[in-house]
Formats: sequence, structure tokens, C-alpha cells
Amino acid sequence: MSHPFNLDGKVALVTGGNTGLGQGMAVALAQAGADIVVAGRSSAAETGKAVEAAGRRFFEITADFSDPACADDVVAETVAKAGSFDILVNNAGIIRRNDALDFTEDDWDSVMDVNIKSLFFLCQAAARRMIPAGGGKIINIASMLSFQGGIRVASYTASKSGVAGLTKLLANEWAGQGVNVNAIAPGYFATNNTAALQADEERNAQILGRIPAGRWGDPADLGGAAVFLASAASDYVHGTVLAVDGGWLAR
Ligand code: NAD
Repeated sequence: MSHPFNLDGKVALVTGGNTGLGQGMAVALAQAGADIVVAGRSSAAETGKAVEAAGRRFFEITADFSDPACADDVVAETVAKAGSFDILVNNAGIIRRNDALDFTEDDWDSVMDVNIKSLFFLCQAAARRMIPAGGGKIINIASMLSFQGGIRVASYTASKSGVAGLTKLLANEWAGQGVNVNAIAPGYFATNNTAALQADEERNAQILGRIPAGRWGDPADLGGAAVFLASAASDYVHGTVLAVDGGWLAR
């Protein structure tokens, strides 16, 4: 019997998989057996090397998720390049920091377009293929700000709280049709997204002081959760938001 975490023969599309958490998850999925398609704005050559080193096929698609209309094309290109499509990891995301009093419409729209609008239309495009094919796995990347308010990140908090709600809604609609929709809520991970926080001595000390594990997360720390939610091991898991946070929410 095949191991329940085995992803041999599966194809995973990871948005924004050229760096950071997306890269960590793409490599972990490849190590579990999946072929990987990365869609995003920047070259994913480094991820490609790691995927091929794990013995899996790698494909790249150029896409800018500030325009949600590209979702259908990205899914169609995934199937055209890789031959099938089983797992979607909605990872691409951005953040804008500003006081709520000074927050601009552009700060709002730019973040919402990538983090929640494109995410929804990618889920829709994916499920339109997965349901007739008998099922699939969708993993949305949420945040601690799916649970908490945060500060100076109004659109990010709105988008990530939306990701948690949308994950549950889609699970309600699609669980009976073989599609698992779940989310991973990473805690504080050392990536480009958090570079400003890591560089701010005071905020860095405050954040580290609250993490029971006593360190920032490394992108590889997300691998196990991604493989679990992408594999048969999670077939009866629907609509959950799985925190991988070094214990942050427990404090
Ligand atoms: P990152 O900035 O290193 O990576 C973000 C990725 O999204 C990059 O590949 C980038 O090119 C891609 N992207 C952004 N805008 C895009 C667009 N318009 N079109 C196509 N691709 C686009 O940051 P990260 O920390 O790896 O973030 C990955 C995800 O994890 C994001 O959704 C982020 O909100 C979330 N997250 C990160 C942390 C953390 O601590 N780093 C915590 C919680 C959630």
C-alpha cells in the first residue's frame, strides 16, 4: 500500500514559488513525489534546480496576480505543460505597511487584488478542473492576521482574514465533490515579506519574545504541513486553518 503522504504522480501548482515560503513548500512537495509548476512574476530557476535535484519535473509559468483575470490561463497552462493538475498552493502575496489614518486606496487595492481576489479566482479555476476529474487539494496561505488584528497592515489583515473565511466557504461547497480546501497560517517566518520587521530591532525583539519556539520560522518548516494537506493523509480534513507558528497563537 502506498504511504498516505506519498505524492508520486501528482502535479502541484505553487503561486509565487520562486522564493520564501512558496519555494519551501514547492521543494517539500517535490521531495514527497510531486511534479511542480511555479507561477509568478520572477524567475524560479533556483526552485527548479531543487525540484529537479529531488528527481521531479519542473515547469514555470509567467503570471502577474495583480490581474485576477489570469487565473484561468494559469490553470490551463499548468495542465498543458505538466499533463495534469492535482494540487493548488495559493501562496503569492504582498503586504503594505502604513497607519490606518494614512492608508491609500492603492495600498488597499494592490494587496486585495493579489492576496484574496486572485486567490479566489485561482481556487475557482482549479476546482472547475478538479471536480470533473474526481477531486484535488487546495491549500491557501493565510497568516496570524487571519486570527489577530495586527497593526499598520489594514489591507493585509482584511485579505488574510478573508482567506480564512473563504477557505471554509469553499470547503463547504466542494468537500462533497472530492476537493479538500484548507489553509496554512504561517507564524513569523524569515522571508522578504518580513524583512522590515526583522530589521527593526525593537519589533524583532518583541516578536521573538512571544514565540515559544524562540526563533523565526524557516521556509522548510512549512513543508510537513504542505505535504500533509496535499496528500491522501488529509482526505477527511476540510476547511481547517492550520497554524505553523512556533506556538505564537498558544501564548
Ligand atoms: P515573499 O515576498 O518572499 O514571497 C511572495 C511571493 O509572491 C513571491 O514569489 C512574489 O513574487 C509573489 N508575488 C507577489 N505579488 C505577485 C504578483 N502580483 N504576481 C505574481 N506573484 C506575486 O514572501 P513570503 O513570506 O514567502 O510570502 C508567501 C506567502 O506567505 C504570502 O501570501 C504571505 O502573505 C504569506 N505569509 C508570510 C509570512 C511570513 O512570516 N513570511 C507569514 C504569514 C503569511
